[in-house]
Amino acid sequence: MQPFETLLSESAQAHGHLCPGQVVGVRMAMLGCRLIGLDEPTRRDQIKKLIVYVEMDRCTADAVAHVTGVKLGRRSLKFVDYGIMAATFMNLETGKAFRVISTEEARDLAAVYAPEIAEKGPRQLAAYKRMPDSVLFRVQKVRVNIDECDLPGPTRRKIVCSICGQVIRDKRESIIENRPVCRPCSGAGYFTHAREVSWPDMNWSPGEPAQAKRINSDGDAGNRSLTIH
Ligand SMILES: [Zn+2]
Ligand SMILES: [Zn+2]
Repeated sequence: MQPFETLLSESAQAHGHLCPGQVVGVRMAMLGCRLIGLDEPTRRDQIKKLIVYVEMDRCTADAVAHVTGVKLGRRSLKFVDYGIMAATFMNLETGKAFRVISTEEARDLAAVYAPEIAEKGPRQLAAYKRMPDSVLFRVQKVRVNIDECDLPGPTRRKIVCSICGQVIRDKRESIIENRPVCRPCSGAGYFTHAREVSWPDMNWSPGEPAQAKRINSDGDAGNRSLTIH
């Protein structure tokens, strides 16, 4: 893994600013990866072994994702909305998992570790760099029962909502009166009053660059080109 300061500056750049959360998140990711034996989590051979559950949608989550390379689109980043400053790092190969929790004491101790800085934000930032892991974090060894449908890789299952007809992937349906129902139709969605609308320029498309328009089956560029009008 890159040195801490390198990871921190890259993470801050990706996140948009340098904040105490970046320091905590970078350190959380470094510790978590070390505990599960992945020293280069973003390297090709290790990236497929790692799953990270983040329990908050705050600055720290971005830093954890950046350092570990986990992504929502790869299914390696799981957001569980607990509102807790914690993340669990799981090695899929060994099944080992550790939950790293950012301590409240660390906030209280910022003044002890960076007494020369008066302003709260900069003081936390400096203090979180100086604190030992043992002050900044608590660690729990946990068992994660990850469902096959939550693993990276191709979609394991598709089923059609019996109410709206939408395809539901990976066992996210509810069963109501023995029929599959998507979350929005089950009433447990995050929105209500859905109403189909049309919008201006609704037939717009970005199209493709000219080169890509050629569909070439025999390697003879141009000959069998297909132009889309
Ligand atoms: Zn931030
Ligand atoms: Zn539905």
